[in-house]
Amino acid sequence: MAKYIFVTGGVTSSLGKGIISASLAKLLQARGLRVTIQKFDPYINVDPGTLNPYEHGECYVTEDGAETDLDLGHYERFLNIYTSQANNVTTGRIYQTVINKEREGAYLGRTVQVIPHITDEIKRRMMLLGSDGYDIVITEIGGTVGDIESLPFIEAVRQIQWELPDEDCLVLHLTLVPYLRAAKELKTKPTQHSVKLLSQEGVHPDIIVCRTEKPLSPEIRRKIALFCNVKQEAVIEAADAPTIYEVPLAMMREKLDLICLKKLDISQYNEPDLTKWKEFLDKLKYPKNKVNIGLIGKYIELQDAYKSILEAFVHAGAMNECSVNVVNIHSEFISEENVSEKLGNLDGLLVAPGFGHRGIEGKILAVKYAREHRLPFFGICLGMQMSVIEYARNVLGLKDAHSTEMNPDTSNPVIDLMEEQKKITAKGGTMRLGAYLCELRDGSLAKKIYNQDIISERHRHRWEFNNAYLEKFEQAGMMASGRNPGSGLVEIVELPKHPFFIGVQYHPELKSTVESPHPLFVRFIEASKNFAEGKNAVKNPLLQSEMI
Ligand code: GLN
Repeated sequence: MAKYIFVTGGVTSSLGKGIISASLAKLLQARGLRVTIQKFDPYINVDPGTLNPYEHGECYVTEDGAETDLDLGHYERFLNIYTSQANNVTTGRIYQTVINKEREGAYLGRTVQVIPHITDEIKRRMMLLGSDGYDIVITEIGGTVGDIESLPFIEAVRQIQWELPDEDCLVLHLTLVPYLRAAKELKTKPTQHSVKLLSQEGVHPDIIVCRTEKPLSPEIRRKIALFCNVKQEAVIEAADAPTIYEVPLAMMREKLDLICLKKLDISQYNEPDLTKWKEFLDKLKYPKNKVNIGLIGKYIELQDAYKSILEAFVHAGAMNECSVNVVNIHSEFISEENVSEKLGNLDGLLVAPGFGHRGIEGKILAVKYAREHRLPFFGICLGMQMSVIEYARNVLGLKDAHSTEMNPDTSNPVIDLMEEQKKITAKGGTMRLGAYLCELRDGSLAKKIYNQDIISERHRHRWEFNNAYLEKFEQAGMMASGRNPGSGLVEIVELPKHPFFIGVQYHPELKSTVESPHPLFVRFIEASKNFAEGKNAVKNPLLQSEMI
């Protein structure tokens, strides 16, 4: 029988409910319990697949091809387990299910209403993973308490709290305790109001986690406990941390996991085993080297747009005991004139995934620079497609080579719409999504890195390498080193004569976790480290004369 933890948020958005949920899950997992996390988002889109990154950050893709909220990425990175379609539910999906059932006649004769029909469907989905053998299911409710959209979700939590035995569920409320510089004081009033709002909706929190810039004094904790009607030990301080990966340890110091276990009446647990986690943190905190990696994209002002890539760099950096300084470079502003100046100080270059025309030529120029200067290059999805176009134009001499996504009339469509995509017009959930197999070619860099014959990676795209050009590319020195065994789609391209030049049609960043960093990222950072060392060696006159 699973037990349930619900996580709600108050005062403001962006307090890090996802990180707190993932950290709590990590601690419970480290104590030997089987834990999973799911997120309920109150917006009406059926999934975030059609949202642009300005609206909602990165769209995270699961093994089974669900396009989900980026918090699921944190869950996977922290827990080292896969999530699925069932782990992210939106208002849109709930209503879609209820309306489809209504059309089928499931409610014949009755009026379909928010309570009970919508709330019943929310509850059904909240409990769904409970039957998968988990000890604990953590459910994060997106949005902030008091939002109109989140009302049915909070109502569903109220009903579950009422229906289940006391020890089978708990509610954790995350709030902000702001520090007023002028008054030199932490203020508890916003927390009091937010708990009051939640109580008005019928849900009483068992634990209050307070985001704060300053430590919470015992008096502040007492005040929050008293006014919010929780035990003082259940007022938890979540101070700003230098990295999100510190948060599980901070929560352990606050005994958040033990308080949950007590409330849920779970007595069978071990001492937490966080050995691997701590090893990773040590390496992260005390790097021996540093590399500058250029991230070429068009959403560079948004931290969340390339979330999984940035986190994969953190994992790979720690593996290499090397700090990764990501230099965000806006592809729209790269030109022939400034490309050397913009990329000249880099030790590695990653061209990001993306859609549409904006910033494309800048990405192609960046790839050319990396190819010609033997700068380690890593292209992901659109980034891989750009490396193919660059090679076609500048090495094969096909001057107008392009992707039909950007130029439908090109006479050299080296990147073309996949056959199965040609009939599709609807936009939601219709890309090539989720895990597909890829066979690696003997003697390739990819095979050396993965050290496997067949791999499985996650996809999210409509366009692909046009196999009609494959022979020409291979003759000219670009190798298709990974292909789908069934369809023959090219999943990896590389340049064997370059120290590190690899483009992948899939998204390796989605599978990098703290405990198993992605090998492509690890080796890319390693190659960048070597490049940096080589650069420094040439700059050092002493070393140069020794070499002669
Ligand atoms: N727009 C490209 C395609 O659909 C690349 C997608 C991506 O980078 N995720 O194929």
